[in-house]
Amino acid sequence: MPDIRYAEAVTLSPRLRRVTARNPGRMTGPGTNTYIVGTEQLAVVDPGPLVEEHVEALLRICGERLRWVLVTHTHRDHSPAAHVLAERTGAELIGNVIPNDGYQDDTFGDARALAQDDTLVTPEFTLRALLTPGHVANHVCYLLEDDRILMTGDHMMAGSTVVIVPPAGDMKHYIESLERMLDYAVDWVAPGHGDLIGEPATEIRRLIEHRLARERKVVEALRRSGPASVEALTPPVYDDVDPALHGWAALSLHAHLLKLQAEGRAGVEGETWCLTEA
Ligand SMILES: [Zn+2]
Repeated sequence: MPDIRYAEAVTLSPRLRRVTARNPGRMTGPGTNTYIVGTEQLAVVDPGPLVEEHVEALLRICGERLRWVLVTHTHRDHSPAAHVLAERTGAELIGNVIPNDGYQDDTFGDARALAQDDTLVTPEFTLRALLTPGHVANHVCYLLEDDRILMTGDHMMAGSTVVIVPPAGDMKHYIESLERMLDYAVDWVAPGHGDLIGEPATEIRRLIEHRLARERKVVEALRRSGPASVEALTPPVYDDVDPALHGWAALSLHAHLLKLQAEGRAGVEGETWCLTEA
């Protein structure tokens, strides 16, 4: 069983601790993980939702040593506590912002933006930013190079499939972002929800294959049915998924179809999708 604790820190490495927010749910697992990097000058990754117990715990644990508050993305289970931590400690906000598509936390702003491979360096650690669009366009993972631990937010999570909601989410970008992660030396993945994940390369390849297998089902369903809507395609493509989750599945199905369209393999007229390949 994972050692998930609310309002207290779990030590993961000499430089990394985890505090989980008490916002459990179907999309958040046990809750959102906040990571505290360092023991001298501290960086917090994904401060999480504005749950008072959680914010107070972070302030108590970090004290005056908190220098930076980083976010992997601005969904409402990851970033709303950021501005409160910054105001209370003077820490700098770091992370990328995109226009609000209805899912973004508007309170996150005035932050230092990140480019691919930007680093935050202290005498104790180096954090490297890996831009990982896919789950959402402004998603960033953070590699704690000294311990080879990659904090992945919602790009990879333990025990569930990441939801891709177009247009801010993009399946083609998601798979490309997974492939790029294989270029970095990583021993452990520290996800935004759930426990540490070992053997990252194996897991990343499994995730890519899972998506491509789903894509093959999309192509197969379209080939059998002929032109069809997302609604009509969802049951056959997700016949292995609880129908109660088909609302979310339909969003990912749409993301798959947009990927096929971008690759010239599918087209759409109105609500009706068709294959363009033989
Ligand atoms: Zn998210």
